[in-house]
Amino acid sequence: MIFRPHHILCVQNYVGRGYSQEFTHHMDMIVEELARDPEITIHEGCDDICKACPHNTDNTCRSLDKVDRMDAQVIKACGLDHNEKYNWMDLKALARERVFDAGRFDDICRDCQWYDICKEKLTGGSQDALYNGDHAGQEGF
Ligand code: SF4
Repeated sequence: MIFRPHHILCVQNYVGRGYSQEFTHHMDMIVEELARDPEITIHEGCDDICKACPHNTDNTCRSLDKVDRMDAQVIKACGLDHNEKYNWMDLKALARERVFDAGRFDDICRDCQWYDICKEKLTGGSQDALYNGDHAGQEGF
């Protein structure tokens, strides 16, 4: 599976909402697959999540400036490298430690349209769902 860097945050706070029905169906399948701890390659540009997104035009995100900035911040915060491979559970733990627990979420994600939903997930009593990975296909991952 290939992920652009900031998507290692998005999938952890996913609550079944997205840009379109096709997108959320695709995202449900991604989240289900993540429960099996697949190998993830960090990728520059559109990835396996973007494939079903209505904002993906010819493999380029329509919000390129914003997502590029978020990708760069996640790369820096987590010490990742493009084209490197990681197990999903390791990446998930890394993002938890270096972004969510380190208080970098607001800085990286505050101008994302899903910010309020993710913030509620992070602060609204769903911490178990965020961290234990047993909720694939249900309320986020
Ligand atoms: S908004 Fe952009 S980065 Fe996000 S899934 Fe769609 S194409 Fe990918």
